Amino acid sequence: MSNGLAQTAPALRHARGEPVRFVHKTERQCCRCGLVKVTRHEGDEHWVEFWRDEEKVAQPHHGRVLTPPCAAFPIPPTETTHAAKEAA
Ligand SMILES: [Zn+2]
Repeated sequence: MSNGLAQTAPALRHARGEPVRFVHKTERQCCRCGLVKVTRHEGDEHWVEFWRDEEKVAQPHHGRVLTPPCAAFPIPPTETTHAAKEAA
């Protein structure tokens, strides 16, 4: 099922388990990093939220919420982390 966000999703995909459906929302938790994607639907309104450790994770971008990258994947080394490693 396409929700129109696929093309903006980063390569760091979550391994989502079976969706858990409630009356006005559907939750899918990543079995790797624990991030929960909540798809809410009330009447004609549909929106997506992301939760991690009881805290709402939101990255609004041009009016929509982007999927946070899966924390279970190693973060590619950057100049910053490389410099920090050198200093340590
Ligand atoms: Zn994940």
